[in-house]
Amino acid sequence: MPELPEVEALAAYLREHAKERVIARADAASFAVLKTFDPPLSALIGRSITEVGRHGKFLDLTASGPDGDLHLVFHLARAGWLRWREDIPDKPVKPGKGPLAFRLVLDDGAGFDLTEAGTQKRLAVYLVRDVADVPGVATLGPEPLADDFDADALAAILKGRRTQIKGVLRDQHIIAGIGNAYSDEVLHAAKMSPFKLASSFTPDEIATLHAAIVTTLREAVERSAGLAAAELKGEKKTGLRVHGRTGQPCPVCGDTIREVSFADSSLQYCPTCQTGGKPLADRRLSRLLKLFSGTHASANHPVNRGAHRHPGQRPPDPSGFGGLPQRWRPTARRGRPPSGRPAGVPDNPPEPGPPAALRCGVARREITGQLCVAR
Ligand SMILES: [Zn+2]
Repeated sequence: MPELPEVEALAAYLREHAKERVIARADAASFAVLKTFDPPLSALIGRSITEVGRHGKFLDLTASGPDGDLHLVFHLARAGWLRWREDIPDKPVKPGKGPLAFRLVLDDGAGFDLTEAGTQKRLAVYLVRDVADVPGVATLGPEPLADDFDADALAAILKGRRTQIKGVLRDQHIIAGIGNAYSDEVLHAAKMSPFKLASSFTPDEIATLHAAIVTTLREAVERSAGLAAAELKGEKKTGLRVHGRTGQPCPVCGDTIREVSFADSSLQYCPTCQTGGKPLADRRLSRLLKLFSGTHASANHPVNRGAHRHPGQRPPDPSGFGGLPQRWRPTARRGRPPSGRPAGVPDNPPEPGPPAALRCGVARREITGQLCVAR
């Protein structure tokens, strides 16, 4: 996903190539990509691009005409990209399942395509009179490279926030422009655990984190500056130290870079640099393991015994599969079971239930004896 440095470089590229040019065509490849309907895309034709700006990860083309300015704003989402073309086809865009999402053609025949890989289409284009009419722009947090984003501003953001710093850094409503990749890079540069609570930062740690944010982003912007749109993706990849480098050696200490799931994706970090040498627990994985470990497979576990039932629910099922609908329960074999068990009893008898004082993975309550006790 293009983040602040890449979007900044794309803005610079468009400033150089599209500014002062007149728009000849603007086509969306599907209804879904265009998030606004008034004014229509046809209102862009004949207007000239007078400015190209960036707000967080949004690009903003100012299209000026005699009746005022319009803003063509777009967000490239996770798998979107901008492809500049010197000689763009003049044919109308055909709606289809391909990667092309949007096309802008200029009066000199050049222009750009917005493309998006994959089946999940989240690239978004807006045409508005005021850029604040784009909901994602109106709710953006401060720009981390702005002059007034100092350590005090960061301290005010972190104060009292009982959430993990990784989530804070990539939340666009809190700080604009940093995504999954650069939050990994910032935390590696700051030598901090991604799971550290935002509210736990000392003034020294805030200063360290602030310096890491500014340095990491500035360096990435400098590396990307002057590159053509087509070269930016490669530059982002080679410039990253930990993000997307699971299993590779850390460029600082040589330890193996690890990966752990976080929210809807995964993050990468170096245990030696960031977590005192300890690998972070993958909570998504451990939850899964807990679910599939003997605990809930056991017929004696309270879940299967029906111990989670509420008043009025059915009593425990002696077959041990009370938690499952009838159609999902193992069917009894016809005839005499090979093990000599009576028909209706599964071949693999369930293991004994968990000892007392374990915590139930489903209800997250303490298991006392055979029942989950609500607390
Ligand atoms: Zn390291």
